Amino acid sequence: MSLLIINKLGIYCSQGDFYIDPWRPVKRAIITHAHADHARAGSKHYLCHPLTAPVLKQRLGKGINIQTQKYGTRHQINGVEISLHPAGHLPGSAQIRVAYKGEVWVVSGDYKLQEDALSDAFEPVACHHFISESTFGLPIYRWPESQVVFKEIDDWWQANQSKGQASIIGAYSLGKAQRVLAGINADIGPIYTHGAVNNVNQLYQQMGLDLPKAQLIDEQVKKKDLVGALIVAPPAALGSAWSRKLGPQSTAFCSGWMSVRGARRRRAADRGFVLSDHADWPGLNEAVLNSGAEQVYVTHGYKDIYAKWLREAYGINAQSVDTLYEGESLDAGDS
Ligand SMILES: [Zn+2]
Ligand SMILES: [Zn+2]
Repeated sequence: MSLLIINKLGIYCSQGDFYIDPWRPVKRAIITHAHADHARAGSKHYLCHPLTAPVLKQRLGKGINIQTQKYGTRHQINGVEISLHPAGHLPGSAQIRVAYKGEVWVVSGDYKLQEDALSDAFEPVACHHFISESTFGLPIYRWPESQVVFKEIDDWWQANQSKGQASIIGAYSLGKAQRVLAGINADIGPIYTHGAVNNVNQLYQQMGLDLPKAQLIDEQVKKKDLVGALIVAPPAALGSAWSRKLGPQSTAFCSGWMSVRGARRRRAADRGFVLSDHADWPGLNEAVLNSGAEQVYVTHGYKDIYAKWLREAYGINAQSVDTLYEGESLDAGDS
């Protein structure tokens, strides 16, 4: 019997009787991060990093029973040792290390190795069994340096400003939107946010994360206020009735999918910026190799192709497994 198995409720540890990111309600859930496909409602008890807890409460309800655990500290359930380690995906995101009688498993959740002003850097954790996502598990996915991308965003914003337009940027409301805000040059002009982004910003600011000043778009805000402004909104808000009321504008998406030709055109945005909260191809390989795992289980993304690559290129015993995690899709909007 494996220490962790995947059953119809999620990733399960029978020795400790807990689940990691279960997709159905369970007694005890350990949560890697608060994106909707990893953090579902209805479980009796939740365990997560302190920076994840307020977002989890905002999304699943204030009344949930929740316990927090800092990175690197250890806690035991029925002899199973549990610790959380930075995943670099967004603030508070964690890889979950589970150890029992010398056998170590790591569940990555979602992760990225790229630098990030707000999140703790991804920490390689040695293990025997590694459960990895593979959202961008194809060699075509390689991210440019984030400073280069933020410079492109700044230049685009300034160019739109000189044309009297607002710059509306579509970025996930949890994680990506704050990374954009922390990375751009806030001196260029006023910054506004959609309500979904503003909700997360407020929680982050209460937790002491440093974000530039931004104003919520509400009924008081006039079209003329938005000329030359940067507006950060969830991807689903672009091209919506909400965005059409904002006056002359240029639109852009921020996503790893923007590295592939055609993705921007299909979404009818004026620009696409390659900024992902997930590991690119070199990042996935680096994480898998640094884990030293003999056995790798590949979840959401290009899982079959990526597992085959791991077997053939590195001789790792890798297999793809079915989960209900969705990965980052451009249409997931607020997830
Ligand atoms: Zn995620
Ligand atoms: Zn995911």
